[in-house]
Amino acid sequence: MAIMITDECINCGACEPECPNTAIYEGGMEWTWGGGTELTEVELEDGSVVEANEPQEPVSDEFYYIVSGKCTECMGFHEEPQCAAVCPVDCCVDDPDYRESEDELLAKKSWMHNE
Ligand code: SF4
Ligand code: SF4
Repeated sequence: MAIMITDECINCGACEPECPNTAIYEGGMEWTWGGGTELTEVELEDGSVVEANEPQEPVSDEFYYIVSGKCTECMGFHEEPQCAAVCPVDCCVDDPDYRESEDELLAKKSWMHNE
């Protein structure tokens, strides 16, 4: 599953540079599929296609947030989720809405990094 940031976040920013997939963004900031990945365009579940460098609406305006579609729980890079490891208030937790197997997470990593 992906990791999510709860509303206990104190916006310290410690997690953002640790993410190997650039899946973490500051609240209110737009995000992109292409940031930190090799993606050039992405087909969404509804069949539409977006350019990877096209800015996307922030997931949260108040707190740092994780783009679930880019989070691999750090699989393929690290032993454990790095955001959770550095967060001083332990607010990076499992997201029950995004449950993925280890194989699925590794496939996501390969897809994003063109491996
Ligand atoms: S678990 Fe890893 S990949 Fe997912 S948001 Fe945290 S640092 Fe990024
Ligand atoms: S490290 Fe934790 S408290 Fe700091 S910005 Fe990230 S989620 Fe929020």
